[in-house]
Amino acid sequence: MPQPITAHASLDGSVPPGTATVAALRPLPLGQTGPPGLTRSEIENIHDLLAPLSYLDGELAVEGIPVSRLWDGSGSLLLYLADRAVDNYRSIHQAFAPHFDVSINCAIKACYVSGVLSALLEAGAGVEVASELEWRMAHRLGVNPGQIVVNGMFRSPEHARRLISQETHLLDIDSDEELERLEFAARQLGMRPQVLVRVNPLPADAFFSDRSKLGLSPDDAYRLLERAAGSAHLEARGLHAHQLSRCADPALFGRLAERMGELRAEFSAATGAPLDTLDLGGGIETRYLLERAGHTIGDFAAAAQEALGDQPGLHLLLEPGRYVFGDAAIGLTSVLGTKRRAGQDWLITHIGCNLLPPTSDRAYPPLPIRPTGETWSRFHVADPTPAPSRLHLDATLPGDAAQHGLALIGCGAYTAVRASLWSTDLPDIAVLRGGRKTVIFDRAGQDAAVKTLFGIDLDGI
Ligand SMILES: *Cc1c(COP(=O)(O)O)cnc(C)c1O
Repeated sequence: MPQPITAHASLDGSVPPGTATVAALRPLPLGQTGPPGLTRSEIENIHDLLAPLSYLDGELAVEGIPVSRLWDGSGSLLLYLADRAVDNYRSIHQAFAPHFDVSINCAIKACYVSGVLSALLEAGAGVEVASELEWRMAHRLGVNPGQIVVNGMFRSPEHARRLISQETHLLDIDSDEELERLEFAARQLGMRPQVLVRVNPLPADAFFSDRSKLGLSPDDAYRLLERAAGSAHLEARGLHAHQLSRCADPALFGRLAERMGELRAEFSAATGAPLDTLDLGGGIETRYLLERAGHTIGDFAAAAQEALGDQPGLHLLLEPGRYVFGDAAIGLTSVLGTKRRAGQDWLITHIGCNLLPPTSDRAYPPLPIRPTGETWSRFHVADPTPAPSRLHLDATLPGDAAQHGLALIGCGAYTAVRASLWSTDLPDIAVLRGGRKTVIFDRAGQDAAVKTLFGIDLDGI
């Protein structure tokens, strides 16, 4: 018997805690992962769950604009909601700022769309980058080096030198070898970069298991921090942890914060070297899902305050990705057709898993564009690709939903960044900001990418 999976499958396709690996290799029963599907009443009152969306005069509206004015109903459109991303960022800042000297550095690996990132930067957010490619993006967007936290393993010597000479705010170190390389580059440049040491403060779980390449055990991190603090070429500022994924449990976040506080206090007491920064990483659940589960980001701030409130001189850093970007895009899609199989009704959508990676059975809840009075029933939603993937199982929708198309929510994080030119057309992509829609990607853009990557010119076909 496969063990039932009740938590979310994680982004990398690994399985949640407590799930036997072998079970993941067998087909799972339908509809076994992810949060419960939205009820009809949750859908009809979607505004309560996801403020930019509402039903006006029998039609879905985005920020008060009827969908029919944003999308012509053909093909599909991934629509980013820049103002929602900003609101999500502000909600974190407003929750933590009363308790902490805090910086919010959004993890851009979840979303590279410049219209969304520039809105966040204008609102005061910093960024977290995980590679040289991402650093180049942040640089081109004009992010001030003082607002960049750099993670990721093993930078090239040229990249390390550039980061150091630009006085990038904080560089993360994840091994002795990285420390030595950074020291070498710093000595050559006669500069002293500010560094954090990456630690896994919580017991291993399935996401960051004992076999994960990332982070160090608290003992190893302590040793590495001693090396960094004793180095003439590095300035050890503190500890970095990113060990949560889709966390909707403030108590777990509180335990992470508490453990980080203990490590900081132990280190400072033993060595007399003050560490001013604790970076608690990202890993907080998509905002609307967190709130649906009965929590707010304020509960996370309160848990951190309880764990760390008595620590003087502390600068807190947070690196949210999914929380900021997850519900800041919707996928508007036509339905290509319907299929009945094994007693279940399937809606086959234009938008595909080449944009929306199937991370759980309920990753992208569909809303009807027109919530008609028709009888509502259960549908599975999937794309037409030759993969047994699905976008959402067990959705409650009006019987005639296929005629009007669907709006999939939760499409903002880890989607376009991982888009591939595989199997089926990508949707158009647009950013909505301040009521104005700007298209950033369309069929011509897709065909240009096909030509560049594969050498096939689709022009005129
Ligand atoms: C991916 C990542 C984040 C963001 O994670 P989310 O789960 O999207 O919040 C933050 N910090 C680091 C180091 C990461 O690798």
